[in-house]
Amino acid sequence: MDENDWKYHGEGNKSLVVSHVQHSRVLRLLKYPCEETQNTHQTTEQAFQHIPNIVDYSRNVMKPLLGEKYVHSGEVVKLPLDFVRKLSLKIQQERPELRCDKVMDTFSGCGLCLPNLTHLSLCHFGDHRPPLCVEIKPKCGFLPFSRHATKECKRKVCRFCMHQHFKLANGKWNRLSRYCPLDLFSGSKQRMYIAIKNLLEEPQNNLKIFKGGELIYSCKDDAKQQPDLNELVQHLWPYFHHSNGHQSSKTVLSEFIQVICSALLSTGDSNRSVEPRKMQLSDGRVLCEASPLHRDLLRNGSPGLPKDCVLAKILQAQMMDNLDIEGLYPLYKRVEQYLEEFPKERNRLQIDGPYDSSFLEKVKTCPSEDDGSIEYAVAKVLQYRVAMTAKDCSIMITFAPCGEDEKLQPHLEIQPTKSRFAFSVSILDLDPKPYESIPHQYKLDTKIVNYYLKSTIDTKE
Ligand code: ATP
Ligand code: ZN
Ligand code: MG
Ligand code: MG
Repeated sequence: MDENDWKYHGEGNKSLVVSHVQHSRVLRLLKYPCEETQNTHQTTEQAFQHIPNIVDYSRNVMKPLLGEKYVHSGEVVKLPLDFVRKLSLKIQQERPELRCDKVMDTFSGCGLCLPNLTHLSLCHFGDHRPPLCVEIKPKCGFLPFSRHATKECKRKVCRFCMHQHFKLANGKWNRLSRYCPLDLFSGSKQRMYIAIKNLLEEPQNNLKIFKGGELIYSCKDDAKQQPDLNELVQHLWPYFHHSNGHQSSKTVLSEFIQVICSALLSTGDSNRSVEPRKMQLSDGRVLCEASPLHRDLLRNGSPGLPKDCVLAKILQAQMMDNLDIEGLYPLYKRVEQYLEEFPKERNRLQIDGPYDSSFLEKVKTCPSEDDGSIEYAVAKVLQYRVAMTAKDCSIMITFAPCGEDEKLQPHLEIQPTKSRFAFSVSILDLDPKPYESIPHQYKLDTKIVNYYLKSTIDTKE
């Protein structure tokens, strides 16, 4: 392993990713808070188990739920410590400042090797234009429907929109995003179009665009600065330029957004004459009062999502959170109490894994009514954790132009007005969310809701 074969690619809150300079591969490495010296906070054994757990969870739990075709679980790789240390030094100056509160794991020697999803794995059709990749972190796409959700506003305004106010107040971001996940998950082309447009205008950490594997559009490191849409149009222009006339910036962006929408709604079904089956939610769950959309547009009702499209798959997994954190928290307490009495049961109940087929079985075969049992409480907790993962994942849409005479399998092709693209859709970042984070989620929910109520009442006065 030579650190010069790898370069900085990106990072999130939990991990840092480097890409291979020649092969279409990335390495995902974990990160830790700086102040935690790595070996004091967790045992060596835990650190070693972390990456294999991530792979097991993605492969055995999330992949069966989200669909084989969307998930690439990757492989655990053992890395020489010397390589990891050199790599960590090499990439340090390229890391965005706002992420430098954490350091790369240079201690476990464990990494995750994945296909580079910003590239297209299909052959490249001899086109000179590199693939474009749009990464969307959609967040939660429905309103809680649980009777346990106590505050009225939780049934009217979605979590993302409420959280925006809280983040603004805490200085996390400088501007409110107008993106609303309920618009993206609506299945309505108009609402989805506006959702994506709002993401482009204020990407925060919900949108990134890559060209030929390089990041070309995302939120600026200096949060006060807005990314430049004109610059993006310059990048996009060669992809949406048609010989039959001049394309305005507006048309270029509009065609770009339409390609993204088509990919998000595509079911990979080659038989297009059949209208795909729809996943339909009642209207009460799909309208967010905070969405800046015009009422009339919302009132048209929602057409629902084609059943096998990537958004439907993610939404289905998110909806395993059907008690809301307020209904789940007492069950978490039931589990805690039980474990205090019978600590040895922790393994049998698979609280922290192993993430195997019997874990998935527990998730899937939860009784519909609370019979007061520990099994019910555990199953709901596991379901909630699956839903949390689905609320935090990202969608990668990668596409490249294909020539006029190129013959493609119909399901691999998008045809907006004029340009033809080959594309692929994947889901990434499917890490297990820790059991221990549930009390934190409970407190955070209260804080977000209370802050929202306070701030919106203040502005109404
Ligand atoms: P979060 O804070 O969202 O939980 P994370 O720390 O769990 O993020 P990831 O989202 O898995 O980390 O990875 C960080 C970034 O690296 C992603 O947003 C994406 O841009 C890039 N990335 C991750 N995996 C791949 C991949 N297989 N191919 C290409 N890029 C990737
Ligand atoms: Zn909303
Ligand atoms: Mg991520
Ligand atoms: Mg993550």
